[in-house]
Amino acid sequence: MENGDEFNQISDAKYECLLFDLDDTLYPFNSGLAKEITKNIQEYMIEKLGMEENVPELCISLYKIYGTTMAGLKAIGYNFDYDDFHSFVHGRLPYDMLKPDPLLRNLLHSLPIRKLIFTNGDMAHANRALKRLGLEDCFEGILCFETLNPDKGTVDEEEAGSVIFDINQYMSNPNSDIDLPKTPVVCKPFEEAFKQVFEMANINPKKTLFFDDSVRNLQTGKLVGLHTVLIGNSQRIKGVDHAFESIHNIKEGLPELWEDMEKLKSVTYSRKVAIETSVRA
Ligand SMILES: [Mg+2]
Repeated sequence: MENGDEFNQISDAKYECLLFDLDDTLYPFNSGLAKEITKNIQEYMIEKLGMEENVPELCISLYKIYGTTMAGLKAIGYNFDYDDFHSFVHGRLPYDMLKPDPLLRNLLHSLPIRKLIFTNGDMAHANRALKRLGLEDCFEGILCFETLNPDKGTVDEEEAGSVIFDINQYMSNPNSDIDLPKTPVVCKPFEEAFKQVFEMANINPKKTLFFDDSVRNLQTGKLVGLHTVLIGNSQRIKGVDHAFESIHNIKEGLPELWEDMEKLKSVTYSRKVAIETSVRA
C-alpha cells in the first residue's frame, strides 16, 4: 500500500474525538446527586441571595431560559462570586453517592481515541466526581465552567445596580415587549459555548461524538456539526443520532468505534511490516 493511502485510511476513521458531559451522563441520574445539587442551589438562593418567594419555580424558569440557574441569577441582577456559588452548591455534595465504575473505565480505556469532558460544572466538582467514579485517568482534559468563564463574576456594587429583573412577571406573560436581560455566563446549551470549546481544544465537530443527558444540549450540538448521543433514555428524538439508556451501552450501540480502532491497528501494523521489510531488504 502506498503511504498516502495508508494515511487516508487513518484519517477516514469516522471519529477522532469523544466529548462527554459529566453529570447524569457519566453516572446515572438515579445516583441521587442531581437532587442534592438542586437542593443546594435553592438553599443558596434563599440563604445567600435572600430570595424568599417561588424559589423552586424561579430555579426552573432561569434554567430553561439561561441554560443554568446560576447564569439566570446573574442575568436578572444578582451579584455574587462564581467560586462562592460553586463551593456552596458542589463543595457540600455527598460524593459517596457516586460509585466507582470499573466497567466504564475499561470501556473508555479500550478506545484509543481522544476523550474530553465538557461540563457546565466547575473544575473542583468535575475532579471530585471523576475521582469517585474511578475515571480520573480516562480523559485528556476537562472543559468546564472556568474554561469558558475565567473571571470571578463579581462586579462593583454600583455597577451591579440594585434592581432585580422580575422573571416571574416575565414568565407569566412571555410575549410582552420586555427585553430579557443578558447573562455574562457562557454555558451549554448555547452555540457560543460549543464554538469556544471547539476552538480552545482544537475539536473538529464533524469528527466528534458528543454524549449528554440533556436533549437541548444535544440539539445545539447537532446544529454546530457534532454527532450526538443521548444518555439516560433510549428513545431517539430530533437532533439525536443515537440514544442509550446508559453510558454502558456504548459498545453494543456504537460498534464502529471499536471497528475503526481495529482498522487503525491493522494499518499501523501493515506500515510497520512494510518499513521493517524495506529496512531488511
Ligand atoms: Mg448532564
